Amino acid sequence: MHRQRCTRIIATLGPASSSVDIIRKLSDAGADVFRLNMSHGDHKSIAALHAMIREVEVQTGRPIGILADLQGPKLRIGKFQNDRITLAAGQKFILDMDKAPGSDKRVELPHPEIFEAVEKGTELLLDDGKIRLHIEQVEKDKIHTKVVVGGELSNRKGVNVPNAILPLAALTEKDRNDLDFVLNLGVDWVGLSFVQRPEDMREAREIIGERAWLLAKLEKPSALYALDEIIALSDAVMVARGDMGVELPMEEVPGKQKKIIRHARRAGKSVVVATQMLETMVHSPVPTRAEVSDVANAVFDGADAIMLSAESATGAYPVEAVSVMDRIARKVESEPSYRKALNRDKTPPEATSADAISAAANQVAATIRAKTIVTYTGSGSTALRASRERPETPLLVLTPNLSTARRLCLCWGLNCVHTADAVNFQDMIDKACHMCLTHNFARVNDHIVIMAGMPFGTPGKTNVLRIARVQSYHKKG
Ligand code: PGA
Ligand code: MN
Repeated sequence: MHRQRCTRIIATLGPASSSVDIIRKLSDAGADVFRLNMSHGDHKSIAALHAMIREVEVQTGRPIGILADLQGPKLRIGKFQNDRITLAAGQKFILDMDKAPGSDKRVELPHPEIFEAVEKGTELLLDDGKIRLHIEQVEKDKIHTKVVVGGELSNRKGVNVPNAILPLAALTEKDRNDLDFVLNLGVDWVGLSFVQRPEDMREAREIIGERAWLLAKLEKPSALYALDEIIALSDAVMVARGDMGVELPMEEVPGKQKKIIRHARRAGKSVVVATQMLETMVHSPVPTRAEVSDVANAVFDGADAIMLSAESATGAYPVEAVSVMDRIARKVESEPSYRKALNRDKTPPEATSADAISAAANQVAATIRAKTIVTYTGSGSTALRASRERPETPLLVLTPNLSTARRLCLCWGLNCVHTADAVNFQDMIDKACHMCLTHNFARVNDHIVIMAGMPFGTPGKTNVLRIARVQSYHKKG
């Protein structure tokens, strides 16, 4: 149960990781949450992966989070006559509404919204920004461009329009259909791609309600203008560096990463750093030193979670990639400079009882050298505030709600056990001590600190802080 690591690992599943056996190995190696990428795979294969994760959860007895990542309004070109073309710098190239297979003169761009939002001078980026087109003239159903940076271009490659707010909803028809499907399946988190405005978050929340927690993927410059408002409307945000590095000059991404982490931590919302963290491990059993440094840097910044994409979905070394992340995170967390960095970016508690108790628990635990802070939570909100404190003492979360335990798997330092709520004050102490012994969070005679809300079983404010000493009779449940 005890990961000996506070930073969480999210592993994307795909063809390289589509069996119970490998998902079990990823979980054992350290994956806390699995991402189902709705951009790939049909509903049948998504349902199969979902069932496999739940089977591994039963095998290991440890709650596992599932994040369903919706594709969002990802723009793509159409297809080519011979599947691919080569564009040369300086040549003309036309994007139009004609469904006919393309050539090196033209290709379909099946998104009328783009034709309305762009003008002469706008830049269009194709295939993750590898190809750059400069718009020279816009007609009703034709965009005339000149190639600035050329290269090979194949069917259905992505299109980015960084400098325009596109009149696109965050949820496409496909997303609504996928969302309905995954909510029925039962997922813990839903990721919303290409969020542009706070309104996009409200729209998704309206549909999802309480059925899952909502993660905003920050990959559009427009989302960064409304950063705090979007964070406030989310349960977590993702620094989606893949598309962000296309939409913004790449050199701006590291600064944005640090800013997003700082703002999310201040708000007490979880933050995930994603994409190309160990990219060379798609083909190689070892990462580059620069990648190791990148993962370490995200951990030092106090991110809640670090994510693998292609490394675990299609790569040749999915389990090794999780192990490498696990080792880096554990090493960084053991450095004295990690604690210093966390404390430097810490923001004071807000004027709520949950924050007051969380801060006090942290301090009391450090003073008496308690082995664990145990927090009782129903909805998960108390545990999130405890995590926001980034305490030095390990956190053990007890919740009667399985979906809360699963959702909290993405959050910094929260080790969750699904168990019945305490029935009275003595039971609260005994249960906490028993769970600490059972899951190796303390030994007999150790002190622990307990936070809870009374009366038990009614969702309310956290109002109890209790020091307890583990006794030998706590071995029995
Ligand atoms: P994606 O999102 O992998 O779904 O594109 C992450 C990113 O853009 O970084
Ligand atoms: Mn993306």
